[in-house]
Amino acid sequence: MSTILVFCDSKNGKLKPTAREAVTGAMKLAQGLNAAVTAVTFGECADAASLGNTGAKKVIQLTNPELASFSAEGCAMAAAELCKSEKPVAVVLSASASGKEVAPRLAARINAPLLSDCTDVKVESGSVCALRPIYAGKVLLWAKISAPLGIVTLRPKAFLPVETGGSAEVVAQAVALDGSKIRAKVVAEKMQEGGMLDVTEADIVVSGGRGLKGPENWHILEELAGALGGSVGASRAVVDAGWRPHHEQVGQTGKVVSPSLYVAVGISGAIQHLAGMTTSRTIVAINKDADAPIFKVATYGIVGDALEIIPKITEEVKKVKAE
Ligand SMILES: Cc1cc2nc3c(=O)[nH]c(=O)nc-3n(C[C@H](O)[C@H](O)[C@H](O)COP(=O)(O)OP(=O)(O)OC[C@H]3O[C@@H](n4cnc5c(N)ncnc54)[C@H](O)[C@@H]3O)c2cc1C
Repeated sequence: MSTILVFCDSKNGKLKPTAREAVTGAMKLAQGLNAAVTAVTFGECADAASLGNTGAKKVIQLTNPELASFSAEGCAMAAAELCKSEKPVAVVLSASASGKEVAPRLAARINAPLLSDCTDVKVESGSVCALRPIYAGKVLLWAKISAPLGIVTLRPKAFLPVETGGSAEVVAQAVALDGSKIRAKVVAEKMQEGGMLDVTEADIVVSGGRGLKGPENWHILEELAGALGGSVGASRAVVDAGWRPHHEQVGQTGKVVSPSLYVAVGISGAIQHLAGMTTSRTIVAINKDADAPIFKVATYGIVGDALEIIPKITEEVKKVKAE
């Protein structure tokens, strides 16, 4: 049986949610390619075996000391070595921040085509196909890989992890890696203040725009996001105005998110903002202008003053959660 390799995201010796999402996406390809999924972690992960429950038959933990701290170059080198020995028919990664750094380097090293930031995958006539949002999300395009081996990165949250009840064989392995060729690696990390997940990782994102009038009103969004267990995002207009930090910006020149729930508050819905959030599962828009373009992509819309509506929603969410 042939192999699909899934290179998994992890942090501090634990898998990130995007790892299970990538394995679930790879499982969709595995059926069509009659292949088994082998998950790979860069460094050892305490919960590596749990990937068996998402369908991986085997988990390889790369134990090279050079991979102890994240380095896109090091991971790409190690992944390329593993591709040589495992000879996969497809390679899958998350289009997370680290996946976006590793995948193109790996593609160049193994001379394989790369389809990035895909929201679905399938196999057609034995070839891997992937769905890619293009032109700022206005067009969805199925692209087909005609080479014998292709790489696909999956947009975070596009695949919800599916539990298969399976188990995986976990092996520790080191690959040939020349550490002196790794030119950049992470030496220190500074945690973001506030303790909220990054918008790309959050399952619920509450984003605010210029309709919130000023940074002094942001606490109402933080309270709603806190009550829902989500994170706070922002439009570019408010980031440019200095109301919010850049890492919260959603859109074409910000981050692309696909949460289960995206709440757009006082955001007009310019095409550049939509580029970053239209693949969200449920979109709730709150805007005082009934003709705001955001309502065209919204699952639910509320027309009214956000400054009055948001605290009422937060109160109701708190009541429901307390029950
Ligand atoms: C090259 C390029 C890249 C860009 N990249 C991005 C990007 O990554 N992300 C991004 O977001 N934008 C991006 N933009 C900017 C984008 O075009 C818009 O200017 C921006 O998204 C508008 O932000 P906004 O919706 O917060 O503000 P506005 O367009 O000013 O909208 C404010 C909205 O709030 C509503 N409102 C006002 N008061 C209230 C109230 N009390 N209650 C409820 N609603 C209210 C108004 O009706 C309006 O719809 C980019 C632009 C360019 C040219």
